[in-house]
Amino acid sequence: MEKSVIDKILKAGKIAQELRRYAREIVVKNRSLFEIATLIDEKIEKLGAKPAFPVNLSINEIAAHHTPSVGDTFVAHGLLKVDIGISVDGYIADTAFSVDLENDSVNKKLIEAAEDAVAASVSNFGVGKKLTEIGSKISEAIEKKGFTSISNLSGHSIERFVVHAGWTVPNYDSGQTDVLEEGLYATEPFATNGNGRVRDGKGSGIFRIDGDGNVRDRFAREVLAWIMDEYKTLPFASRWIYKKFGARGMLAMKQLEAAGILYQYPQLIEVSGGKVAQAEHTVLLLEDGTKYITTKE
Ligand code: MN
Ligand code: MN
Repeated sequence: MEKSVIDKILKAGKIAQELRRYAREIVVKNRSLFEIATLIDEKIEKLGAKPAFPVNLSINEIAAHHTPSVGDTFVAHGLLKVDIGISVDGYIADTAFSVDLENDSVNKKLIEAAEDAVAASVSNFGVGKKLTEIGSKISEAIEKKGFTSISNLSGHSIERFVVHAGWTVPNYDSGQTDVLEEGLYATEPFATNGNGRVRDGKGSGIFRIDGDGNVRDRFAREVLAWIMDEYKTLPFASRWIYKKFGARGMLAMKQLEAAGILYQYPQLIEVSGGKVAQAEHTVLLLEDGTKYITTKE
């Protein structure tokens, strides 16, 4: 990997570390999720980066994929997952942690399980390591705390401007035969006291460009051109479109969605309503065996 590329990845990681610290300060019980997300958006911009995706602020049985849209009335409470993506010129760091806002012993144990699992995963990262073994370390760590690893969520390889690239980093002994090669990876265990699977829920407020259909409306085309220029292939939030274009922008998004040009990610909900904790780090693995946990505080 070229040094200039490594430098940009590590820079994204440093900014992600700073955002983790900042998010821990500003996430307090009963603060609106919209305010928390806006503060995080502003902080990323201030540090000279862009969001690789909208911050996910997902509560209790929502394992992932909730970002506040205009009008969102949710406030921080329960077991809250904070998942942050940083892009420096398209080079991405992806990281998450969970916070217990109820002083609840189960929440705390779930968070410990997710943290143990991500630590076991990153310590086992190495060139030539089997991905299925990483997965089994993750589920072992979670089961040791008496919980279940969510098996239909997984980590992933990362490419420039692509958060979820081709490789899967499993959260269980998946049996896949792939081994780790030089590259950039996110590992993200989810621990639950439920059944250990997620289903699709309602719209998340997170979108991406999905197809090249046509819209007749000139303003909708203008919004689309701006999205393509600003976010390229990366996910974005409807609140960012509102900020730029106001209520008209929301109507344009509806037209673009109806035309199959925009895709809205669904929320991911634990099937049995169990509570979910997540922990995530991004790992840069080099051919010579050098390993950077780019998002480690
Ligand atoms: Mn993430
Ligand atoms: Mn991820």
